[in-house]
Amino acid sequence: MIVSPAFAAKRYCILGLARSGLATLDALMASGAQCTVWDNREEARETAIANHPDVVIGDPMEIDLAGFDGLIVSPGVPLNRHPVADRARAADVPIIGDIELFALARPSLPPHRVVGITGTNGKSTTTALIHHILREAGVPTIMGGNIGLPILSQPALSPNEAGTGVYVLELSSYQIDLTFSLDCDVAVLLNITPDHLDRYDGFAGYCAAKARLFSMQSNAHVAVIATDDEPTRAIAATLAAPLEVHASDIPAGDQAAWPSLKGPHNAQNIAVALGVAHALGLDEAQTRRSLATYSSLPHRMERVAEHRGVVYVNDSKATNPASTAPALGAFARIHWIVGGLPKGDSLDECAEHFGHVVHAYTIGEAGPVFADQLEKVMPVTRAEMMANAVRSAMDNAKAGDVVLLSPACASFDQFRDFEARGDCFRQIVDALITQDVTQHKDVAQ
Ligand code: ADP
Repeated sequence: MIVSPAFAAKRYCILGLARSGLATLDALMASGAQCTVWDNREEARETAIANHPDVVIGDPMEIDLAGFDGLIVSPGVPLNRHPVADRARAADVPIIGDIELFALARPSLPPHRVVGITGTNGKSTTTALIHHILREAGVPTIMGGNIGLPILSQPALSPNEAGTGVYVLELSSYQIDLTFSLDCDVAVLLNITPDHLDRYDGFAGYCAAKARLFSMQSNAHVAVIATDDEPTRAIAATLAAPLEVHASDIPAGDQAAWPSLKGPHNAQNIAVALGVAHALGLDEAQTRRSLATYSSLPHRMERVAEHRGVVYVNDSKATNPASTAPALGAFARIHWIVGGLPKGDSLDECAEHFGHVVHAYTIGEAGPVFADQLEKVMPVTRAEMMANAVRSAMDNAKAGDVVLLSPACASFDQFRDFEARGDCFRQIVDALITQDVTQHKDVAQ
């Protein structure tokens, strides 16, 4: 856990006691701060008290906020609509998140560097890849942030003589919105496509949120930007000397040696990771060797099984068409399971790879609309449920084909989150394979 004298005797109010809120509470209490906490869920409040009997419970919509050193909100709170923002502003209390607390703690930590990674898609993959490259190079490193590892609950890098340790932080735009003084030694932008527009003042507002990662950097520090789309090019154009990289820097032939980094989207992630490694002064040959030993994160192009020559790939994390498109580009013959809670009505962003899809299986709320669109260009099964989709895909697929769950939609219509959706896919695949193997044994007996 990150403990810092920067928080001693400070007063904070924490709104939202999910994973990062509870981690923040632990770190602040251990640092000697006084905390008032709130979550609408009673169980969450009870957990806070169980862990810290001296914590104060108070709803920031009701208590007097004057005198607090900060209102710490979870990135899930929609500040553009939530009335707590006005209350905090009226009381002159800064609204911040756990990444800002980390930034405030940095001067009290042993010398280190920070790499911060943002973008619409590919953040987690690139964060994990950079962390892997650093580890393979023998550089002390800690990974945290939006990747599901609250940074304040991670161990601090221990002092080392050269001060070369690196914190690698995945940063969502919501987290950047709550951060004001994170001066990344290397700040990274992967791509920008329309997303989360309910939280911003249009697409321009979303782009501006991403751009703030760079405006917090001091002059000598490095910006690595994949300028493969117009919005990232526009941000790069405002910076003095960004290191611009492109997916096309990575020849497709080279990717063959890196089994967990397939597809054009991963070419972009690799190009960025190589740029960061260069900025950190790592040896290029060693960095390239470590690409071969990277293994994919769960739910991102994750190969979950192979049966009768058919490969099953779980890309449940693809929650918008922009992130599904490259997954469709990565394989030649795909049985595509698509649908869920739609973020828009159109799959046009995926259209350039439709030629790779042998058959689509639509599920969830978006199923009927997507099926109407796709039927014009490919065979479609209106499967509705995951189990039907996997079963039909398994029946249709031939050796050499890939059954790909890459939904291009959020999961909340049928699942708790994208992880639950991916786990469901994997369990059904496993069960059907076991059933198939058993039936064949029975026939053989
Ligand atoms: P994030 O953390 O930004 O959501 P992930 O690495 O978890 O990104 O990947 C999310 C989804 O986006 C996955 O389906 C993955 O295949 C796809 N993806 C990964 N990298 C990129 C990229 N550079 N461009 C577009 N899509 C990508």
